[in-house]
Amino acid sequence: MCDACSIKNRNWSLHNGPGKSKLENVRLFSYFGSETRVRLCYLCSMQLFRLGESNFFQSNPALEKQIKQSNSVDSFDF
Ligand SMILES: [Zn+2]
Repeated sequence: MCDACSIKNRNWSLHNGPGKSKLENVRLFSYFGSETRVRLCYLCSMQLFRLGESNFFQSNPALEKQIKQSNSVDSFDF
């Protein structure tokens, strides 16, 4: 499941079409201040690449919120 599509309730595999329904593990380094991993489908990873991290999360505020929440949960897990 693509993290960005699932937050928008979009069927990522239908959205990408056959042959492109492959998920990529994308690592972000700068935006959240620490290494963050997201799973993105082909279209979303292209969007991230085109827009850059900050513009991508500006257009996906729900995804940004979810990542921040899971990051703060992780920081309690010593
Ligand atoms: Zn996607």
